[in-house]
Amino acid sequence: MHNLSIKRLVEALRAKKFSSRDLAEHFLARIERFQERLNSFITVTHDQALAAADAADQRIHAGDAGPLTGVPIAHKDIFCTDGVKTSCGSRMLDSFVAPYDATVVARFKQAGAVMLGKTNMDEFAMGSSNETSYYGPVKNPWDLARVPGGSSGGSAAAVAARLVPGATGTDTGGSIRQPAALCGITGLKPTYGLVSRYGMIAFASSLDQGGPLARTAEDCALLLQAMAGFDPRDSTSIDRAVPDYSAGLDKPLDGLRIGLPKEYFGEGLDAGVARVIEEAIAGYRSIGCEVAEISLPNSGLAVPVYYVVAPAECSSNLARYDGVRYGYRCEDPKDLTDLYKRSRGEGFGAEVKRRIMIGTYALSAGYYDAYYLKAQQVRRLISNDFKRAFEQVDVIMGPTSPSTAFRLGEKANDPVKMYLSDIYTIAVNLAGLPGISIPAGFHDGLPVGLQIIGNHFEEARLLNVAHKFQQETDWHTRAPMEA
Ligand code: GLN
Repeated sequence: MHNLSIKRLVEALRAKKFSSRDLAEHFLARIERFQERLNSFITVTHDQALAAADAADQRIHAGDAGPLTGVPIAHKDIFCTDGVKTSCGSRMLDSFVAPYDATVVARFKQAGAVMLGKTNMDEFAMGSSNETSYYGPVKNPWDLARVPGGSSGGSAAAVAARLVPGATGTDTGGSIRQPAALCGITGLKPTYGLVSRYGMIAFASSLDQGGPLARTAEDCALLLQAMAGFDPRDSTSIDRAVPDYSAGLDKPLDGLRIGLPKEYFGEGLDAGVARVIEEAIAGYRSIGCEVAEISLPNSGLAVPVYYVVAPAECSSNLARYDGVRYGYRCEDPKDLTDLYKRSRGEGFGAEVKRRIMIGTYALSAGYYDAYYLKAQQVRRLISNDFKRAFEQVDVIMGPTSPSTAFRLGEKANDPVKMYLSDIYTIAVNLAGLPGISIPAGFHDGLPVGLQIIGNHFEEARLLNVAHKFQQETDWHTRAPMEA
């Protein structure tokens, strides 16, 4: 059952080949079996899942099934879940039980999906390796000595290891695409504003975007369908008709214009990764696509710009964790200042503190113009690079990540090295564009992800381009661990 795609699961449930309860029990048993090895979950909602599965079975019997009725799913622990712990990977929220559902969570419930639990993640989504989680690192199912990527590493590892057929993630600078690449699955970061951020714990509000992780583009289309659409409770949500993401998956790609940014194939790219990406692109060529070199001249500025903008926004967003209203509070504070200082000092981990300090500095009087304002100006230049590129090509392709999964601990003490893991993904967030990472092959036994970037609201096209590749290749069907 765990090797079936979401598409097949929906069909099998409708045909009553097995029940939603059978499915939930099967996956819950796998989660339990692999938890010690992978650490991909923070919370497993065993009893709620079985109750939801029974309710799904009743809906199916009554002929009243929604598009995902009975399909198991896991949510990144950044999405608020009514009555269920929502930690965001932090000690600060270790005792926090959300009093409401995030819009994404509510929509999955409405579509009939059965939540099995909440997945592990880097603390407040700050990281590229899952090593900043208060709950310990997630392990990569392809090699337990390696990282799964981050920050949605728990979701990616769980999907790759077939502990759940699909999961949600969030992507501020690469956190859906990079772990999808490192774990050998498919992950889509939608256009900014397509998926509601209501109830999604904020890291950098102008960059954060929720999206799906699954094994195939076809499954991501089904998950995105449930997630996308206007939400009056999110002021940056865009009021625009949501297309049918599954309808155009099979469209032929003849004449599709693919741009390869020369900046994405230069120094810093692992030769083994480059070889896999080049082969994937040759595959597209052989099915009738036109490939041309393009330039995104300001690419080199994306990481520095991001590490001003994201920390600035995070320092403001995380000011709410003061030990007063909710979240972690220190023992026996001697006065109010001591309460703030120790609650924040003890509740946040090192990486989160680093970001808050950088952000507070960049926003402080006297430095605002030099850092934050300047970063916003360069952000516009980065955005314009893409605008120009999309006048010449339909999609942009390149590696998702410069290397395959690195070893646990390898970059943990070198923040700059860690920050460079997202060198090819960050510009997409700065420009608010959609991007998808799909399994493109292996290097030394580890998966390599191909990134496909589209113009705003071109998710359907990205899914089509990804799906056609998955019909020609079987990389997305490879499984890392014993079944
Ligand atoms: N790795 C990047 C960071 O640490 C991106 C994280 C993300 O997309 N949430 O900020």
